[in-house]
Amino acid sequence: MIALSATAGPKRPATRGLSTAARALGAAGALWVATGACCARADEASSVPEAATLRLLRSVVVPASDPAGGDAAAAKYRLPLELAVIAGSGWSADDVLAAAQQASRLLAQCGVGIGPLRLSEFDGPARYRNLCTLVSRELARRANLGRPALFFVADTRHRPAFDAEAIGRANSRTRPEMADTVWITAGTRDLAIVIAHELVHVLADSGEHSDEPGNLMREDTAPENARLTPDQCRALVTKAQANGLLERAP
Ligand SMILES: [Zn+2]
Repeated sequence: MIALSATAGPKRPATRGLSTAARALGAAGALWVATGACCARADEASSVPEAATLRLLRSVVVPASDPAGGDAAAAKYRLPLELAVIAGSGWSADDVLAAAQQASRLLAQCGVGIGPLRLSEFDGPARYRNLCTLVSRELARRANLGRPALFFVADTRHRPAFDAEAIGRANSRTRPEMADTVWITAGTRDLAIVIAHELVHVLADSGEHSDEPGNLMREDTAPENARLTPDQCRALVTKAQANGLLERAP
């Protein structure tokens, strides 16, 4: 049984996953305190007309049947996936798309193929470039994407700061707009591994990690940690189907 508080699924221990901003600030404070600081920023910006604050720059769709989409065409289950790149956050849309396609090959060991993939690039106010629950709830709602959705941002205001955070159902009760999303900060290494790792957290709706050598769900994401056990696959397929995130392939 997983404690709800463990379901955030941070990618790395704080000692390894601290963002540049967190390292500069030193010791991490409680999350709700950091969120309060974000609220102030959101209030300051609230005079901006909402309709003018988010603009879709481009949208690219890669169908599941496209050979570039990895193993999606041969998979038992299809995972439609949304990728949101926030302009000015330091991410290349092409790199993000390529990494998501590599992640599809990792999830193929569970019979899951990512696709169709839709990448949307958004322009908006600077506050959207950092993960911060209050502001990111607004972004998640206004982007109006399907789920799961991966948001590629510059940094995180959360403390402790992690390179990536997964938000499932169990840890989104106070922020429902962010359910089934992943937030990945710029400079995150081993991006395909991180995408696959965080997607497993979301699909399984669990913050559980593994100590098994070579397992994708080790806390320390690394290229050599890529394997999922049959039990992990069963758990994520069952939960994700129940939550309507996975479709049986035709
Ligand atoms: Zn994790």
